[in-house]
Amino acid sequence: MRSLRPSFGSVTAIILLASMAGTIAAALWVSPGWAFGVALGGQAVALGWWLLGARRAPPQPKRLPRTQATRRSRLRILLHNVRSAVDALDDAIVLFDDQGRMRWFSVAATRLLGLQRSHLGQPLEQLLAGSELGAWLRADTTQPATDLPAPANASLRLAATIMPFGQRLQVLLARDISTLSRLEQVRRDFVANVSHELRTPLTVIHGYLELLDPADVPELAPVLGEMRMQSQRMRQIVEDLLTLSRLETREALPDEEIAMIPLLETLRREAVALSQGRHRITVEAATQARLRGSIHHLHSAFSNLVSNAVRYTPSGGEIIIGWRQTDDGGAIFSVRDSGLGISAEHQARLTERFYRVSSSRSRESGGTGLGLSIVKHVLNLHQGRLVIDSEPGHGSTFSCVMEASRVLPPDGGDLNRTETPAA
Ligand code: ADP
Repeated sequence: MRSLRPSFGSVTAIILLASMAGTIAAALWVSPGWAFGVALGGQAVALGWWLLGARRAPPQPKRLPRTQATRRSRLRILLHNVRSAVDALDDAIVLFDDQGRMRWFSVAATRLLGLQRSHLGQPLEQLLAGSELGAWLRADTTQPATDLPAPANASLRLAATIMPFGQRLQVLLARDISTLSRLEQVRRDFVANVSHELRTPLTVIHGYLELLDPADVPELAPVLGEMRMQSQRMRQIVEDLLTLSRLETREALPDEEIAMIPLLETLRREAVALSQGRHRITVEAATQARLRGSIHHLHSAFSNLVSNAVRYTPSGGEIIIGWRQTDDGGAIFSVRDSGLGISAEHQARLTERFYRVSSSRSRESGGTGLGLSIVKHVLNLHQGRLVIDSEPGHGSTFSCVMEASRVLPPDGGDLNRTETPAA
């Protein structure tokens, strides 16, 4: 409600006006001294009143135009609602500047990351030092962290990612994936346990089938042959599942120095044995560089690619096993074939367990559908990746791309001079 009392400013103005009028009247009519006295007295009172008021009256805030004030209050409410919504999330959100100093964090960041209000303005890396999340922040955050223990509670698991925000800010988003992670662990344990439990009975059945001689029961010979083949297939599936389970639980594999030239030759011999003269198989080694990693696992992964090339390339086809360095100091092991090729829609799914382009062809050729999945896991553990380049009817190239940190110079050699002279 507006006050009806005359304001301080208006009283001052009235007295000043009155005294000025007195002064003018005195000047016009050359009136006696009393008129000047009144005028001067009025002005003195006005000045005193004004000085007194200036000391007493608090500075009046400038009134905003009505629309601007409404807009401001609306924005304040909106901001409050957004903050409340963000705080209601189970995910931790932390805002930090280009110096890495923390500017703001959501409520969940206290529960998951242990951040407190008193930490505002401090470097986030320092606040999370000693945790795996802190190590990830210090290292390479261009790749999201997929499964890390929460710094404030090691029984919780986090997936984290960093995104740019505004001009100079960044956002750390840490999602609580504990439930997902637990389910994934249950799945892994289940597959590992089932495979393990099946292994012994299958070995026994296979052993007895091997003892049976088809010549003793000629009428059952075809049945016996089929039973042997299927039991062997089941054993191979169980072995591959156990290999995958073991790879999934490993954080790293042994680091050995692998001489690639002899390994390429071994792979070629294996391919020739599998092909039985149906394909032309060659090695193209453009470098003698060695590889740092687990020889057992890398041999098995490379051999999987070579065996696929033989199995999915019709007779008369060509297979080239390659090894070359890349401009960034890394290296690529590749297997190129002139076989069936794979259409684009299948390529992205080939490394999924039991994914096959053609189930019958895979089974006929003794496949389990787990080979490429194993290859992907082995490469991941070596910070490598599998690249598939294929076109139906024009063959395929499977490349294992290895980082520079995994590539070693040849024995007693120099990485800059590792080209193998052309034959
Ligand atoms: P499988 O034991 O069935 O060969 P993999 O995981 O090794 O399982 O391969 C998955 C699927 O990818 C295969 O079933 C096949 O359809 C396809 N594939 C793999 N390698 C090749 C290749 N060199 N040429 C054509 N198709 C291939």
